[in-house]
Amino acid sequence: MRPSIIVHGGAWDIPTEVHEAHKHGCRTAAETGYAILASGGSSLDAVEAAVRSMEEDATFDAGKGSHLNREGEVELDAIIMEGAELRFGAVAAVQHVLHPVTLARLVMERTEHCMLVGEGALRFARSVGMESVPVHDLLTEWERERWEQIRGRKRFEQRDVFAGSAAPPQCNGTVGAVAIDGNGTVSAATSTGGTPNKMVGRVGDSPLVGCGAYADNSSAGVSATGLGESLMKVVMARHVCDLVEKGAGAQRAADESVSYLEQKVRGLGGVIVMDRGGESAFSHNTPHMAVASVDGKGKMRVRI
Ligand code: ASP
Repeated sequence: MRPSIIVHGGAWDIPTEVHEAHKHGCRTAAETGYAILASGGSSLDAVEAAVRSMEEDATFDAGKGSHLNREGEVELDAIIMEGAELRFGAVAAVQHVLHPVTLARLVMERTEHCMLVGEGALRFARSVGMESVPVHDLLTEWERERWEQIRGRKRFEQRDVFAGSAAPPQCNGTVGAVAIDGNGTVSAATSTGGTPNKMVGRVGDSPLVGCGAYADNSSAGVSATGLGESLMKVVMARHVCDLVEKGAGAQRAADESVSYLEQKVRGLGGVIVMDRGGESAFSHNTPHMAVASVDGKGKMRVRI
């Protein structure tokens, strides 16, 4: 199997002035992940490294640069999964961590559990020696301004961020990566700061297995993004895998799952897919989706 990778930096109404920053961040993430695959590394290592690079990039709503909740705090969600044995780890509503995707992986590898949340996730992070970062290291000035703008509004609906219908203040995108390695193992990861002005303790689709991500070597790997309250209702990522399992190609599975999301719950969002044959695709019903991929021949493509 020739390794390949696809990454995304969110699906929403991405304003033109931040297109370049999104493309640059996605390209860097895809390059980082592909370098690992090209030197014989695992798809799990590749998706973790790709997502870490976007968690460090304040352009995205993950790690540094994440949206703030109603109390002005950063609460992060992430998941990582490998498709050989369906092992996964996830964290939700965790604070003071720059790399929730790595914490999710440590949950998978060093505990007998699959998911830790809030204070428990933070305590676990400290127990395994992960650096605890002060909130101002995750917070950007423009996120604080956005938060103040939203707080000052009479009406703000999370849905508007994805549709672009109410000219919300500029938002960031959730990040994700899906890769296949030389052994044919598919892995997927998703990381997010959630939606702007979310309630304290709100958890979206991203860290929920089968919703924000899924990986199964017998079908595909998927990372989803969009309005979590809709994506989780249709178990988005697993839905894509089901379509692939039933014989759909990566592109058809991606397109049909987004149509299903729209028809069933009027959902807004997008998915990236890598099927077991190394074919990748993406689809979205939002105005934009930031995506970069490197195919089996080493060819990079960046789109928004
Ligand atoms: N799905 C994420 C959430 O609802 C947000 C996003 O993908 O932009 O938390």
